[in-house]
Amino acid sequence: MTATAGKREIYEVYNPANPLELVGKIEFNTAEEVIEAIISAEAAFHTWKNYSPVARGEILQKTAELVGKNSKLLAETASREMGKTVAEMEGEIKRGASILRYFAQEGMRAEGEVLPSASETNMLYTKRVPLGVVAAITPWNFPVAIPLWKIAPALVYGNTVVWKPSIQAALTGEILGDIFLQAGLTRAVLSVVQGPGSVLGRILTEAPRIKAITFTGSNAVGENILKSARQGMRLQLELGGKNAAVILADAYLNLAARLTIEGAMKQTGQRCTATSRVYIEEAVYDEVLERLIAEAEKIELGVTMGPVASRNRYEEILAAINLAKKEGATLVYGGGPAQDMGSGYFIEPTIFTDVTHDMAIAREEIFGPVLAVIKVKDYEEALKLVNDTEYGLSASLFTNNLRLAFDFSERCEAGLININNETGGAEPQAPFGGMKKSSFGPREQGQAAKEFFTTVKTITIGTPD
Ligand code: NAD
Repeated sequence: MTATAGKREIYEVYNPANPLELVGKIEFNTAEEVIEAIISAEAAFHTWKNYSPVARGEILQKTAELVGKNSKLLAETASREMGKTVAEMEGEIKRGASILRYFAQEGMRAEGEVLPSASETNMLYTKRVPLGVVAAITPWNFPVAIPLWKIAPALVYGNTVVWKPSIQAALTGEILGDIFLQAGLTRAVLSVVQGPGSVLGRILTEAPRIKAITFTGSNAVGENILKSARQGMRLQLELGGKNAAVILADAYLNLAARLTIEGAMKQTGQRCTATSRVYIEEAVYDEVLERLIAEAEKIELGVTMGPVASRNRYEEILAAINLAKKEGATLVYGGGPAQDMGSGYFIEPTIFTDVTHDMAIAREEIFGPVLAVIKVKDYEEALKLVNDTEYGLSASLFTNNLRLAFDFSERCEAGLININNETGGAEPQAPFGGMKKSSFGPREQGQAAKEFFTTVKTITIGTPD
């Protein structure tokens, strides 16, 4: 809901668990203010890039400590504005702090390499240098970790940042922005700009002073950015997924069922890496289906599973469930708005069987607690169906067959391969990203982050006699 105060629009944030509860208000920045933030970031770049990388790392280290100290505030605010449970948020915040600590250490690592030269009098070496002003555009579903895994590497490598959080995670964004200020950054080095993506996105993608955009969000918006971004702008787009798990007859079936349901339902299914399809070998199909349902039964709405993030998401997920029914899939668990949860946007964990690959539920990202279960003859059939998607973010295989584990790692068309692990999850030291329509540009996190946030200078120094 928005109102106007002076030139600034006011956005009212309501709790998705209880849509009558006003959580807070956010003032949207005007276009002039966003342009001013970009100009200030460009001016600050000339000072920030000359800071020692060690000093930049120390600010990130301090930020990590402050994120830890403010964990309760961050977790409760995020939970109330986008619905994730406080426990899930606390896990995310811990991960956010380790992302900061990892990139703080980057300030002490090599910035280039010395190479042999064909000339005896030349010294030849490379040095990584920052790009300038980077825009970070982030979604609501990881309101702390995703911004941090963009902002931390951008800053430590010497860039300044204009960050636009999702308006569904705007209050958390304000707190995180203030934490960076307390850690010693200026507003010009990292500014938080608030407002709808359709308005701010246009300013950020067209601004000549912005050298790169790192974006995480939906394919629709990602494709829009790809089309509208100023020519020459560096882009990193992390988009949607339709992630699959495969359970073979030789797998530890209890583990496979538990991790498949966790993969599908954690964070109410609102993770880009969530499991949304599972292929089960026919020999164990009935047994595994029973275990999947038993695992889903353990979920307690409002306790271990939060609401979906907004009214729009609620309606879209229920529409996807209805479409699956209409297209002939069989609903075996859940399937509706939760009973006895007041007006909150709670949806039951939902499982469908008899899903065929021409159904929307097998092809489209639902981004909610919905799992499609598909029976397959064997591993080969499963692999073919896993790859039968335009997405390529994450996939899992549950097996004890080492040969098939390696085969899956080679032939599965996904950026994140998990054997005997769920589809979600990423560690800060490991590259993160997908194949096909799930990602565009260099990977995020780990040493891969350097590829996006820096460019390389090759330097030859002659020392003639
Ligand atoms: P979204 O695309 O609606 O919004 C993401 C961000 O883009 C928000 O800050 C939004 O305000 C902004 N935006 C909207 N219109 C814009 C425009 N025209 N130009 C520039 N920016 C604009 O996505 P969401 O609903 O916040 O997040 C859910 C989506 O994100 C899902 O599709 C999910 O799969 C994806 N996601 C991907 C990853 C990944 O790493 N691959 C991680 C998390 C979420």
